[in-house]
Amino acid sequence: MRPWNFSAGPSALPLEVLQQAAAEMTDWHGCGMSVMEMSHRGRQFTQIRDEAEADLRELLAVPDDYEVLFMQGGATAENAIVPLNLIARGGSGKADYILSGIWSNKSHKEAQRYGDIAIAASSGTEQVLDGIAQAPWTWFPGADTWTLRPDASYLHLCSNETIGGVEFSDWPDMAALGAPDVPLVVDASSHFLSRAIDFSRAAMVYAGAQKNAGPAGVTVVIVRKDLLGHALPVCPSAFDYANVAGADSMFNTPPTYAIYIAGLVFKWLKKQGGVAAIEAANAAKARALYSYLDTSDFYLSPVHAASRSRMNAPFFLRDETLNGDFLAEADAAGLMQLKGHKSVGGMRASIYNAVPLEGVQALISYMQDFERRHG
Ligand code: PMP
Repeated sequence: MRPWNFSAGPSALPLEVLQQAAAEMTDWHGCGMSVMEMSHRGRQFTQIRDEAEADLRELLAVPDDYEVLFMQGGATAENAIVPLNLIARGGSGKADYILSGIWSNKSHKEAQRYGDIAIAASSGTEQVLDGIAQAPWTWFPGADTWTLRPDASYLHLCSNETIGGVEFSDWPDMAALGAPDVPLVVDASSHFLSRAIDFSRAAMVYAGAQKNAGPAGVTVVIVRKDLLGHALPVCPSAFDYANVAGADSMFNTPPTYAIYIAGLVFKWLKKQGGVAAIEAANAAKARALYSYLDTSDFYLSPVHAASRSRMNAPFFLRDETLNGDFLAEADAAGLMQLKGHKSVGGMRASIYNAVPLEGVQALISYMQDFERRHG
């Protein structure tokens, strides 16, 4: 058996996907070529790309008035590509950002190069919630506290802060917030495909693939068609959504192998019962881990209970001198990549789609055992 892999990304992929890729490595479906060796414009790769898009549309019920784009540069490049494409729409040159952790802060910083950028809300302060003092970036600012500019060209938020372990899934109706013309743009990188998406709430969703969707190298952008065609003149043509959409994501050579693996992940997800089934499994996994953390006096979860991510669970040992032993013994027990991000410290278990409940139970058993031996 392979070890359980709790990496935050690039992260665990379904074993079946890796095995199929291995079996098809030198000869895809009898065509005599590896997917890596075929022209992106040939009949075989066109089929791979078309199926990947169709399967993704089916999994997420993407409405017809949205484009699905396969791009490069990761979510980090999107931090620039989003304002380059959207900020000129409507003429105000304004965009608003919700700050909820490291990734949304990076998005906000990059956007400042392109226009009049304001902070609509921030969780960068301590806040008492449910009687508990929550540290900065361990909670999510509720939509009722957002300060929105109705003429902004978009509102950006990160719906799952991978490092802080904060998730925001109840995306608001912008009209109800008094900003009906402001499209909501969401960086969903680290919980993409882990749960359903309500496209009536989001005009654009983007995600680097390397958590739930596949290997690093491809960024999925799902964008409402009316947002296309407003790119700034300085926008690189390969990053202009209208160009990418107009060429079916083949404006230039796309990351063919990454798209192929993502396509295999989409087919695997359909076999698991689709997004509703994986969402139920993810909820059960998160429930198991957080309820253990909450009952233990040995470990602690820093995140406000209502905002805890189902995908990324940071936790601390109350006695931090045991961190090194915890990680070394976890490694030896076949539980990999549990070290927390350096900015937060402690531990982090990323329990993406490809980590089943069995893997989470193995982690909990190990944690209980470690607690018995060192508590
Ligand atoms: N946003 C989020 C939420 C992320 O988790 C990450 C990567 N971990 C990024 C953006 C940046 O992605 P990339 O490194 O692919 O550019």
